[in-house]
Amino acid sequence: MILAKKYEKFRQEVKEFAQKELKEKAKEIDRTGEFPLDIIEKLAKKGYLSIPYPKEYGGAGLDYLSYALAAEEISRVCASTGLTLCAHTSLGTYPIFRFGNEEQKKKYLPKLLTGKMLGAFGLTEPNAGSDAGALETTAKKTEKGYILNGTKRFITSAEYAGTTIIAATLDKNLGTKGITTFIVEKDFAGFSIGQHEHKLGLLGSNTVELVMEDCFVPKENLLGEEYQGFSIMMETLDGGRISIGAHALGIAQGALDVAKQFLKAKPNKSQQVSKIIADVATHIYAARLMVYDAAITKDLGIRADKECAMAKLYASELGTWACGEVIRLLGMVGLTNEYPAERFYRDAKLSEIGEGTSEIMRLIIGREVLKSE
Ligand SMILES: Cc1cc2nc3c(=O)[nH]c(=O)nc-3n(C[C@H](O)[C@H](O)[C@H](O)COP(=O)(O)OP(=O)(O)OC[C@H]3O[C@@H](n4cnc5c(N)ncnc54)[C@H](O)[C@@H]3O)c2cc1C
Repeated sequence: MILAKKYEKFRQEVKEFAQKELKEKAKEIDRTGEFPLDIIEKLAKKGYLSIPYPKEYGGAGLDYLSYALAAEEISRVCASTGLTLCAHTSLGTYPIFRFGNEEQKKKYLPKLLTGKMLGAFGLTEPNAGSDAGALETTAKKTEKGYILNGTKRFITSAEYAGTTIIAATLDKNLGTKGITTFIVEKDFAGFSIGQHEHKLGLLGSNTVELVMEDCFVPKENLLGEEYQGFSIMMETLDGGRISIGAHALGIAQGALDVAKQFLKAKPNKSQQVSKIIADVATHIYAARLMVYDAAITKDLGIRADKECAMAKLYASELGTWACGEVIRLLGMVGLTNEYPAERFYRDAKLSEIGEGTSEIMRLIIGREVLKSE
């Protein structure tokens, strides 16, 4: 897909950054599982933690298409860093930008957008994943604010985040209608980090449990209106799916890069090899069209739940499949860490689960298709 010159220029800039700063480090990040704070600082310096947000708050003043390009190019080299970028931009920052009042925006966005702090998003719980209405974290209203109690699980970057958007219920009997969102600062009393998750892949991305024990949140930190939380979280996830699609697309492209590198060293013109390369490249092309189209639609200010879900579904299933195909092409060496194919393979699976599983994407797509004229 040929994009306007300014986008190709931006893509090239991010690509060069990823080659220079991440290519060598990605293997080490995966081996140690350490959260790469130095890389995050570099991303911040380049303005990559603020791409689709206005300059007025310290953002780069670009758009969702540019953000998708950056997520793709970073994930193409280091998917862990790509996920940190996506979670911060789409999940930790967007809700404040979109639903925060002016005071909240002035207080938090400049820090989030300049990378002085990371943002996180806390919806999932031990007993509430796909079904957000089952969440058990409670919010009790008091004169000066709210008292939160509960546990969140699988929260990306939360250990390093200055703020986490927390979804809690003011009235469990109301199901999703009781959900309310709060901006919770990491130093609020009663807020702490629980266990670390030991994952299959994305080992340099931080995934932790959050524990709230009588955690007091001042009323100024209510995000949006009371009982508006479900729609805040869902709209946030819809946009987030563009970047998870781009993340998966980047992983698939990274795997294809490995196959090309391998074939340069060991040329093989068999029909089987051509088929793998052609099929992977063709599906990458299709995924790219879908992810960019969803991003362009968002840039036009149009809500596109179906297109975001389709892009995420297609790109994430492509990611896992393409990495498997590349390992097949490489043979045994594909299973070793001589090439990063095995790392991409482990990293790819998350995209099919995080920000809504493939089954949930199909439910959304089916619902939207049947709703449309
Ligand atoms: C690395 C990582 C990072 C994450 N980061 C975050 C984060 O920052 N913030 C956050 O809030 N969450 C985060 N998550 C959680 C993620 O969003 C959830 O894992 C996801 O929503 C699925 O929930 P679950 O794992 O509880 O699975 P479940 O909802 O228990 O699903 C289990 C299986 O049942 C299927 N299923 C469930 N309901 C239905 C249905 N109605 N119809 C058909 N099939 C169904 C699912 O598709 C899946 O196959 C992260 C997860 C991972 C792995």
